[in-house]
Amino acid sequence: MGVRVDHAVTSGTFSLDGETFDVDNNVWVVGDDSACVVIDAPHSVPAILEVVGGREVAAIVLTHAHDDHVRVAPELAERTGAPLLLHPAEDVLWKLTHPGVPMPAPLSDGQEITVGGTTLRVLHTPGHSPGAICLYAPSLGCVFTGDTLFQGGPGATGRSYSDRPTIERSIRERLFALPPETVVHTGHGPDTTIGTEAAAL
Ligand SMILES: [Zn+2]
Repeated sequence: MGVRVDHAVTSGTFSLDGETFDVDNNVWVVGDDSACVVIDAPHSVPAILEVVGGREVAAIVLTHAHDDHVRVAPELAERTGAPLLLHPAEDVLWKLTHPGVPMPAPLSDGQEITVGGTTLRVLHTPGHSPGAICLYAPSLGCVFTGDTLFQGGPGATGRSYSDRPTIERSIRERLFALPPETVVHTGHGPDTTIGTEAAAL
């Protein structure tokens, strides 16, 4: 009955602009006992399927297309039969990671994805990458921010296809508009809250 948020951490690498880094990624699974939505597809299909636990996967939502967030997306889609969803502005990054693999179905700002009676609302928050999105779940009091907002501030904007003023505008106009008590589930590292980060920026 109740919708819950489950979570795993996967370890692997992130590569862009000819450099490679070791990273730990959060993968988030939102759902009830029968169906769920998977947020991001980093590094390891078995690690993600363990969190899914045999439930139907209604959709695999990708916060953006950096390779550490989408590495196993095609394989996970094949294993679960679930559709992949990604903002179309991530086209250039998707092609870097998965050349020749068709773009996932398009996500758009304001789109709502429902699972177990809970709504996840897409917020287009460009800056870390052109088509980065966050997913806001009003009834759960949380937002999944990918690499747009972390505990301690905005996501990185030092590499190709990133823009610092754009991410700052996304965070101020879209994320800081959410209730301050909203829990922030990030793409890397620990949770925070909107109020904590708004006070610090
Ligand atoms: Zn990223």
